[in-house]
Formats: sequence, C-alpha cells, structure tokens
Amino acid sequence: MGSELIQITLANRPGAPRPAAGSPGEAANFAPWHLVDGRIATNEACGAGPSPGPANAHQPPETLATSGALKTFYIETFGCQMNVHDSEKVQGVLLARGMIPVEDHAQADLVLYNTCSIREKAAQKVFSRLGTFRKGRSGTRKAIAVLGCVAQQEGERFFERAPQVSLVCGSASYARLGQLLDQLEAGERRVTGLALDTDECFETEMTRRDNPFRAYLTIIEGCDQHCSFCVVPMTRGPQRSRASDKILDEARRVVDQGYTEIQLLGQIVNAWHDPSPARLSFAELLSRVGEVPGIRRLRFTTSHPRYFTPDIVQAIDANPILCDQVHLPVQSGSTAVLARMLRGYTREEYLEKIQGIRRARRAISLSTDIIVGFCGETEEDFEQTLSLIREVEYDQVFSFKYSARPNTLAEGSRDNVAEEEKGRRLTELQELQRQIQVRRNQALLGESFEVLVEGYQARLGQAVGRSTTNRVINFPGSPEDVGRYLTVKVTSAGPNSLVGVRA
Ligand code: SAM
Repeated sequence: MGSELIQITLANRPGAPRPAAGSPGEAANFAPWHLVDGRIATNEACGAGPSPGPANAHQPPETLATSGALKTFYIETFGCQMNVHDSEKVQGVLLARGMIPVEDHAQADLVLYNTCSIREKAAQKVFSRLGTFRKGRSGTRKAIAVLGCVAQQEGERFFERAPQVSLVCGSASYARLGQLLDQLEAGERRVTGLALDTDECFETEMTRRDNPFRAYLTIIEGCDQHCSFCVVPMTRGPQRSRASDKILDEARRVVDQGYTEIQLLGQIVNAWHDPSPARLSFAELLSRVGEVPGIRRLRFTTSHPRYFTPDIVQAIDANPILCDQVHLPVQSGSTAVLARMLRGYTREEYLEKIQGIRRARRAISLSTDIIVGFCGETEEDFEQTLSLIREVEYDQVFSFKYSARPNTLAEGSRDNVAEEEKGRRLTELQELQRQIQVRRNQALLGESFEVLVEGYQARLGQAVGRSTTNRVINFPGSPEDVGRYLTVKVTSAGPNSLVGVRA
C-alpha cells in the first residue's frame, strides 16, 4: 500500500477544486505533495508535532463540550489511504449531523485525530498533537476524539494517558459513531467504541471526499491474516467484505459526481469475496467496476500475494480502464523470514506471481513494501531481499525498519537486529532501489503517456500529472490544466519523477 504517511488536515483543502463532470481535481495519495490553497506542498510536516507530548495523567478532562454544543469540527488524519478514506466517511457522518468543518482546531468544538499505529513512530504522533490541549494550553470547552488504530490499541487507557480526550473509537465501531457522538453531546465524559467482534462495514449516507481526482472506495475492512509483525487485525478487526451491488452503486454515484478515477481499498483488497448472491470474484468485481460508464481509471490497493490470482492479471489485460499498476508487498526476500512473518508464501511462490504479472500483454508497473531487520533477520536473509529487488526491478519500493508492535505474534520474539543495523540495511536497500528507479525511468525517455493533471506549481510554471502506472510527470503547463487528461512526452528522468512536454 503506498504506505508513506499522509497527513491531511482541513488546512489542505480550501481552494482545492471540487470535482465537476469530466474534470476531477486535486492531489493524490502516492504523491509526496498535495495542494495547499491551490499550491503544492510536501507531506514532510507529518512528523512535526507542535507540542512535546501527552498530557499529564489523572487530570480531569477540562475541555469537554456538552449538550448539543458540537457545532464545528476539525479533523486530522495520519496513516494510509484507508485512514484517509475513513476520515472522509467520518466527515460525512458529522456533516449529516449539521456540523461545520473548520480549518483551525482552535475554532472547533470537536477535534478528531484519526490515528495510525502501524509503526511506533506513527503511533506517537497523536500524543504529540494532544499535547496542544494540555491543561492551561487550550481554549475553552472542546471535545477531543481519538479515532482509528491507536484508539483501538490503547482503548480505555487513553483516558489515563490523555485525560483531555473524551471519545476513543476504533474503526470497527465507526458504524456506531452517530450514537457515540449523541452520548458525548449528552455530556458523557468517557465515551468509547472499542468492540472488535463486528461483521458490519462502515456505510455512510454521505462521504466528504477530499481528493477531487481520485474517489476511494472501501471494499473490504479489517484483516484476518495475522502476519506476525502486523497490528492491523488487532486494530481494525475481522475481515468483512462489502456486497458487490453496494460497491457498484457507490462507483456509479462517484462517477455521477464527476470522478473519473476510482481506487478500491482494503488492507488485503484482493481477499475480497462477495457476500451477495452474485458471488463475484475479486477479478470479476474489477471488471464490473471498470465497465461503469464514465470511469477512466481504476486502481486497487493493497493486494496480498497469497490471493493474487492469474485472473486479476487477465482482468487488467482485458480492460485498459484497469490501471497497469500492481502493488504487491513482499516484505522480505528470504523464505525463512517470510515463514516467521507468517506471510503464507515462499520467495519462489512470490516470484512466480511476479512472472505471471510480467507475462501480461500490457507492461504492468510493480511496487512493493519491504521490512528490514525483522526478528532474527541475518545478513544472508537481507542479501536475499536485495537479490529479490534486483530480480524483480520494482518501479517503487516502500521500505521500513521493523518496529515491534503490541499484541502481535512477533511481539514476544526477540527484536534482535540493532537499530543501527536496521538503519544501515534500510539505507543500502534504498540506494539499490534508487539506482533501479533511475535506470527504469530513463528507459522511458522519448515515450508519451496520458496523465491526469493533479496540481500546478506556479513558481515553476509546472503542471504535475500522474500516469496510469502511477508515475509523476512534471511539465510546463498552466493552472487550467489541473483536472485534465493530457498526453506528455518524457524528456528527462530522475529516480522519483519524470519531466516532460505536452505531446
Ligand atoms: N495489509 C498490507 C499487507 O499485509 O501487505 C499492508 C498494510 S501496512 C498498512 C503497510 C506496510 O507497513 C506493510 O506492508 C509493511 O511493509 C509495513 N509494516 C507493517 N507492520 C510493520 C511493522 N511492525 N514494522 C515495520 N513496518 C511494518
């Protein structure tokens, strides 16, 4: 999954164009930038917490808004596209209650943080933000809600660690969000939605889509895989798939709203199975969504190699609306490490899937996720990861140092690769991948691609487009180009992006 952290706040949104028929508008999930007031900004601010840490424990909550006082809200999101889209749906719930979004938390009656706990660093961010609301530092009556993975992980303990928080809700309880907000408005000071044993999906009547170019659609929630490093099954609950008719209805609706690009989402998107009598396979679902009149691009993420079947490649081959891009996290190139990670495939089995993708009639762009320094990873294991990267030649790799997570199966194993060594391996891997990307991107010189223009950098006079393979291409353009599909010829190439001219 484009696993880089994305921070989206209301401050990113003003001025961002809303989609109009045939002309979608703003920044996308894989981009290292987004539009701010119509301008491009990087996501580097992710780590920049304004305050030193969590509130002192055992202070009474002094910031609770009560009895119908929740009129305005501010929401900040950390984590993957699934979190971003969850926040879009949460905002739909708030808007349907008549609440108004504001751009500054100081003006909000309700401040919500939608959190990520995939790695320790990500989990810490919310405590940094909550420091803003320590006793004496914030304004008046304000309700603070922590949503998502850290909420689920910390549960009731949140109230001890951060007493200014009055609502703690994991994603498996979002279907009850309206009811939880009622409790908050009725003056309850410690409201929780922490049940995990759900078979419900989070359906909303309204969704506030923040990305005017790409409509996210969740098709499967939770995860049952229990990879030994991964916290997701404990924070997002059991796997539950949405019925194909609901997904297709939503796809038609977003196209009616003007979107031409859809991205189907799930932590393990290709494990989707149709609970409806239609019993579509995942590949059939891709084909059906790809046939919705008006759609021009369909993407999906994140696929798990175990469920990556040849019919998915056949579906991509059969319909050019399905983007020529697959994100297939391998995590390690060593079969021994994969076994300890409980990934359910060997290096050889993974490479067979890759060969199946490479045999497609269309050249499909490949990306992956890799963890270095997992418990017991030897130098030889790591070398196997490097050799796999050399063999596959990915177009993009998201790489991480292993971070032990609470309640995971690997938590009890010895996290015995030293931090410094993890850092060394990460740097070596990233340097190797950088060289591969330079080579692969330079091989595209002179080729032309259709891009969807997602931004414009006034200072440089450059438009920023994205190809179906998810490559970013900068080219001389104008603000009016934003939202258009244009053909661009590549004139130069760096490791992370291409430069071109209108063809
Ligand atoms: N569900 C997807 C899967 O299993 O392939 C990926 C979900 S996760 C949000 C994105 C990536 O974060 C994973 O593919 C993995 O590379 C990384 N990740 C997950 N747990 C991690 C951990 N404990 N330490 C470091 N990286 C981790």
